[in-house]
Amino acid sequence: MMASKSNILLVEDEENLHETLKLNLEMEGYEVSSAFNGTEALKKIAHEYFDLIIMDIMLPEVDGIAVTESVRVNNNEVPILMLSAKNAGSDRVLGLKKGADDYLTKPFNLEELLLRVEKLINKNKKLQEKETVGDTYEFGNNKVDFKAQDAITWNGQHIELSKKEAMLLKLLIENKGEVVTREKILQVVWGYNVYPTTRTIDNFILSFRKYFEQDSRQPRYFHSVRGVGYKYVD
Ligand code: CA
Repeated sequence: MMASKSNILLVEDEENLHETLKLNLEMEGYEVSSAFNGTEALKKIAHEYFDLIIMDIMLPEVDGIAVTESVRVNNNEVPILMLSAKNAGSDRVLGLKKGADDYLTKPFNLEELLLRVEKLINKNKKLQEKETVGDTYEFGNNKVDFKAQDAITWNGQHIELSKKEAMLLKLLIENKGEVVTREKILQVVWGYNVYPTTRTIDNFILSFRKYFEQDSRQPRYFHSVRGVGYKYVD
């Protein structure tokens, strides 16, 4: 779909280490955003999509474990690689328990960090691909043709879909039964780091209900999950 660079959030307060990591990650072809404390990290995570977060544990203000916990509480599944100066096993366990995917103890080997970063990003991309639906999809009386960008509605009308409508429908249907987060929708349908408002997505969902739900006020297929995202249920 989009051959964009993977976007990494680097959360590290030690400036020298931060600069070294940033430079090396950029040389590997990653786009790197920086945060130097937990508060700044939380702000960025709330507003941008990242393919991976590298998170130091010992940070000013909010520590890396609390940031990770907050990310997971918000149903954000972004991979997190935790860094810590402490070699304590308990720290590692706590980090993993709170939702980190991997863990490196400082001082670490740079090559090893880059390999782990690559592995986590690829694993996540594979997970996101999921099972794909074909060019057409039927549910109830509805029939959607993603490729032709048209559909037959619940009452037998033939309608044209915009490109974004077709993309969003496909994304929701491919993740049948699961909440697709706003961030994911924005990333996949609107493209990298372009942010329309939540209302924009809401309007698409309203249209889908109008097209495909017999009673658009009591939707059977298209559900909003407040503050999180949207879900298609068959
Ligand atoms: Ca630190």
